[in-house]
Amino acid sequence: MKKALVCGAGGFIGCHLVKKLKQEGYWVRGVDIKPHEWSPDAADEFMLLDLRIEDNCRKALTVDGGAANSGTFDEVYQLAADMGGMGFIHSAETEIMHNSVLINIYMTDLAARLGVPRYFFSSSVCVYRDMKHGEPEMTEAEAIPAHPDNEYGWEKLYSERVAEAYERRYGMQVRIARFQNCYGPEGTWTGGREKAPAAMCRKVAEIGGDEGTIEVWGDGSAVRSYTYVSDMVDGIYLLMHSDLHGAVNIGCPQYVTVDELANTVAQISGKKVTIKHVQGPVGVQSRNFSNERIYSLGWKAKVFIEDGIRLTYPWIVKQVEAAKAKKI
Ligand code: NAD
Repeated sequence: MKKALVCGAGGFIGCHLVKKLKQEGYWVRGVDIKPHEWSPDAADEFMLLDLRIEDNCRKALTVDGGAANSGTFDEVYQLAADMGGMGFIHSAETEIMHNSVLINIYMTDLAARLGVPRYFFSSSVCVYRDMKHGEPEMTEAEAIPAHPDNEYGWEKLYSERVAEAYERRYGMQVRIARFQNCYGPEGTWTGGREKAPAAMCRKVAEIGGDEGTIEVWGDGSAVRSYTYVSDMVDGIYLLMHSDLHGAVNIGCPQYVTVDELANTVAQISGKKVTIKHVQGPVGVQSRNFSNERIYSLGWKAKVFIEDGIRLTYPWIVKQVEAAKAKKI
């Protein structure tokens, strides 16, 4: 039985990935600084560890306490990061630059030196510069010369290069995905780290009655693509087992404005929702990325925004209702 380590398994994509690997027949260890809120027992084993500490990374990577014939994992998936939506990214620059760099430096270095054969790193399309509406697709190579919009993107770009350097030196097979925005059930939906789809669902779910107003940051015209989490983990798995070196974009080819996203949520909720644009961190104006590299492996997004929100909104309604009941 193959053994996989998932770092960031207490988080959104990490836990969905654990479930995918279990379905594929792996023995899985999850590691995170916090347990997963909704599926704490998804992995065969879960270790609570702060991966900013080198010795904890060694513990995470070591099977059977380092006993003879134990060694390390067949596959390591590194998704742990100090992470959040636009609000968090703009208010926690130093935490991101400090914490995520430490995690990636120690994890990559130790994985390579302990002899991990395959290592996955979760990067982001935040490594790219801002784009104008209507610009042609950007390929992975066009991330350089680099001009990311925020420090989160710079950290990802640096950590990509760390992983590639270790691949050259140690021969560890490194696979790097640049994720577009990912959403779905069991993702952060409140507290300041949530991303736009979850935030919109929450705001609409919190409207008491059939009619109300939600606040949307910016003028609503910023363009994004949103990838449903099952498509994302399918892409991660395919990429990990491929021969594709270098960064690979993974994202749904459907691009929508922030207002279109809000209106989709409103329509699925059945409520009459008025959008009020307010000042707030918006991030880049537009996105349009080539998916040719991941398409070359036979990957295609299966879930487009309406179906994805149809799957996500009821889960967020449940969380909002449970939180309300707790307060009463
Ligand atoms: P998430 O915040 O739900 O998961 C990240 C996990 O890392 C969290 O559970 C967190 O507790 C853990 N973590 C943070 N610091 C840690 C530490 N010091 N030690 C151990 N664990 C620590 O985020 P996610 O949406 O699941 O994202 C997973 C990965 O994908 C991240 O690397 C993120 O940057 C990347 N990514 C996500 C998106 C998206 O839209 N969700 C887009 C692009 C890239």
